[in-house]
Amino acid sequence: MSVPESNGEALAATFDLSAVPRELGRVEAAEPGPTLICLGGLHGNEPAGVLAIDRVLKQIFRRSEGLRGRLIGLTGNITALAAGRRFVRHDLNRIWRPGRVEQLSALAGPLNDEDQELVELNASLSRILDEAPGRVYLLDLHTISGPGPAFAILDDTLQNREVALDFPVPLVLGLEEKLGGTLASYMTAQGVTVVGFEAGMHDDPTSVDRAASAIWIALDSCGVFEHETRSEVVEARDLLRRQSHCPARIVEVRYRHNVAEGESFEMVPGFASFDPIAAGQEVGTVRGGKVRAPRSGLMLMPLYQDQGNDGFFLVNEVRPAWLPVSAVVRRLGLERFLHLLPGVERDPNRRQTFIVDRRYALWFARQLFHLLGFRQEGKDGPRLTMTRRRDQLL
Ligand SMILES: [Zn+2]
Repeated sequence: MSVPESNGEALAATFDLSAVPRELGRVEAAEPGPTLICLGGLHGNEPAGVLAIDRVLKQIFRRSEGLRGRLIGLTGNITALAAGRRFVRHDLNRIWRPGRVEQLSALAGPLNDEDQELVELNASLSRILDEAPGRVYLLDLHTISGPGPAFAILDDTLQNREVALDFPVPLVLGLEEKLGGTLASYMTAQGVTVVGFEAGMHDDPTSVDRAASAIWIALDSCGVFEHETRSEVVEARDLLRRQSHCPARIVEVRYRHNVAEGESFEMVPGFASFDPIAAGQEVGTVRGGKVRAPRSGLMLMPLYQDQGNDGFFLVNEVRPAWLPVSAVVRRLGLERFLHLLPGVERDPNRRQTFIVDRRYALWFARQLFHLLGFRQEGKDGPRLTMTRRRDQLL
């Protein structure tokens, strides 16, 4: 397989990406209801989401009866979309830390590239949240540089899970623990229901079809279509079901290969997302040496572009039977007893945070915390910091 082009040139030919507005459009129904925000182009070399939002908005404008609530289309990184690059200075999907957002928003005057994008996008999102009379949903549309089926990504809260399970594609859990600073985590922490959707390869026109399908399904599952399931939704489910053959329905990220700044990492050509990988298998090269998979699993998002610090991820299947079990234990509030476990103590300053010392804790302590809806926030040698995600359905 040749290394795919990743600058969105082919798609850009059908849509002017040189000056995309922050708000792509909105449909507001007379009847109040949920708000669905669809976001495209958080990475500038991923125009498929922007095109899909534009397409669905036009179709809904043509036939807008039977709606309640609002659909709002937003653009992510306007500057990087115009440049056809993932980002100009910073990855706009790695800098959403509450302190930084607050600090940048308080500064006067235009800022540099992604800092300015972050402030503007945050202002738009905050305005939408302030005005929303009901529940708010965010569908964050992306594409990737390597082949493979479409898939959904979520921070594993019960409310995110409820919507993500409605997409007939593989679901990826635990990515936020490996990345940090994603918009999805930032919005999930504010009580928004967020699903990330990876629609396919950057330049593939069918990625736009899959992203549009994700929007139709989201409109249906969050209840913007109140009375009927429209034919577009049925077709969208069919399309994703046909195009999402994968050995696992739900997977959890177990490993991320970091590409250091300025390092010339090269993926071995030919990998696709969800390809089985054996421990020790050669998957790339760096500084003339071989990069081998440190564990077995399934490949996810092999890097076939020159920007980005995620070389590849390895995921393992999560047995779907665990999902209802974990929903039940979360509703029972079993975290009240966690500090009684060996090697586990409550953070003295934050009630929803625990320190797990892996030298003394049970071998499955980390999995147990995941089951209860905690995520790993930090690591200091053998000591892990596990923080509670907000579950809205308790
Ligand atoms: Zn992306």
